[in-house]
Amino acid sequence: MNVIIIGAGIMGTTFAILAKELAPELDITILERLDDAGRGNSWAFYNAGTGHEANCELNYTPVDGEVVSVEKALKIHAQFNVAKQFWAYLVNKGAIKDPRTFINQTRHCTIVSEPAIEELKLRFREMSAHHFFEQMRYSEDFDEIKSWIPYTMEERPRHEKMAATIIETGTDVNFGALTQQMAAHAVNELGVRIEYGTHVKRVHKSPSGSWLIEAEQRGKPVQHKANVLFVGAGGGAFPLLKKSHLPFRDRFSGFPVGGRFLQAPISEDQAGQYRAKTYGKAEVGAPPMSVPHLDLRVVDGKHYLLFGPFASFKPILERGRGFVDFLRSIRLHDVSGFIRVFIEHFALVKYLVSETFKGEKDMLEELEKFAPGLSKKFDWKAVEAGQRVQIIKDGGLQMGTEILVSEDRTYGTLLGASPGASVSPEVMLRCLEQLIPSIFSKEEAMEKKKQIFPEDDLEALMNNPERYREIRDAVNKTLGIARSMPE
Ligand SMILES: Cc1cc2nc3c(=O)[nH]c(=O)nc-3n(C[C@H](O)[C@H](O)[C@H](O)COP(=O)(O)OP(=O)(O)OC[C@H]3O[C@@H](n4cnc5c(N)ncnc54)[C@H](O)[C@@H]3O)c2cc1C
Repeated sequence: MNVIIIGAGIMGTTFAILAKELAPELDITILERLDDAGRGNSWAFYNAGTGHEANCELNYTPVDGEVVSVEKALKIHAQFNVAKQFWAYLVNKGAIKDPRTFINQTRHCTIVSEPAIEELKLRFREMSAHHFFEQMRYSEDFDEIKSWIPYTMEERPRHEKMAATIIETGTDVNFGALTQQMAAHAVNELGVRIEYGTHVKRVHKSPSGSWLIEAEQRGKPVQHKANVLFVGAGGGAFPLLKKSHLPFRDRFSGFPVGGRFLQAPISEDQAGQYRAKTYGKAEVGAPPMSVPHLDLRVVDGKHYLLFGPFASFKPILERGRGFVDFLRSIRLHDVSGFIRVFIEHFALVKYLVSETFKGEKDMLEELEKFAPGLSKKFDWKAVEAGQRVQIIKDGGLQMGTEILVSEDRTYGTLLGASPGASVSPEVMLRCLEQLIPSIFSKEEAMEKKKQIFPEDDLEALMNNPERYREIRDAVNKTLGIARSMPE
């Protein structure tokens, strides 16, 4: 069977490795528009690099009165645990020599002021009662919070009442470096082909039942054929779906949201004083993807602070592609959906437009509110982040991701943005199960799957504390994540 994957981001590359590990007989080619793997949204500074496991992101635990809902947080935590099993497998087999090239232990903290303190306390009580978050601690003590996350507290007036939670086993992940190492492994050890500089323009089904892929390779038209097609092309997945003639194509369109960060290079010593990702509370009316956070990043052995994201209204599909590409992906029947989203989510649209015009000075003011004194302590500059394309489905805006598989199981795609790269191995495993289920009927494939994922059942991880702890401790050891932050 010949499989073509469009996009060598973290999704496409993970899909290729999983498929080839479980079914070595598959003939797999990845077609990638750019000249390298992991240079789209997966690239280090195009995203925040948070290993999302719901340790610190308030938007994963919505509160209604006195009831905090933890279901989403539990699912994301379990999915991240499955992701770590996959990455630990790659480290153990030598595909990735040193885990520190892509994953670094980083405290995951949440900080809030009045009137959100009661909410955080409630969240802490609910979450720390579950074995996933048993290591979470809570404090309202100014000095203790300062010892956890000094850069957010050093110049804050002592009378300002704050509350924070901390989990010491969080991570910063360089998804770009991870993708590049995975791509090299896929090509050199597993026999996957990657055709770079190949922009797929259109895919359609031939009368014989195979997929015809029309692309441009460095300006020249090329064609490929596939029995099975997986489109892991980020925002670029929308126009391909639109042109595919699949019956569900009309139900989906893309709502693009751009982003920027403030970035400052810091020394190793300065990084040693912080070693955290600290999430705050989003402004009222702000979308979930704009929760402010101050992150320590480790990229190619160098240290940076990142603050943001600052969302913006940017009608493009991906970084490096123009407005015309986005416009061409819109069909007449999409217009009513856009109008509905504009009316129903007017506050969001207004927020995005206002954020678009925020200058560096305003961004630094936001940083000052989050971490008093920090804007002057380091040399900050605004940098362009990746481009999210959220799903509009049947006229309604969705914030998550969705796997779509055609009825004949020959076309699969991933639409949407978050939680994204952090959960990519679990999401790609589910996608593979739906797209090529025949793989999973073979005993050897199931044995291999057990080697890669000792426990991929999210419910088992959620409901069996002993099993979860056994897996967590084993993968953390391989990935260099200690029970508490090493001094
Ligand atoms: C501002 C921001 C912050 C984020 N923060 C986090 C975070 O902290 N943690 C986290 O887990 N996730 C985060 N994410 C999400 C994460 O970046 C994405 O989920 C992840 O990178 C998606 O991977 P992908 O492979 O689907 O997309 P990409 O990495 O964008 O890869 C898609 C690839 O497809 C290629 N492509 C597109 N169209 C075509 C075509 N027609 N032909 C050939 N090739 C094509 C592109 O060139 C690209 O290389 C963030 C995203 C943004 C934008």
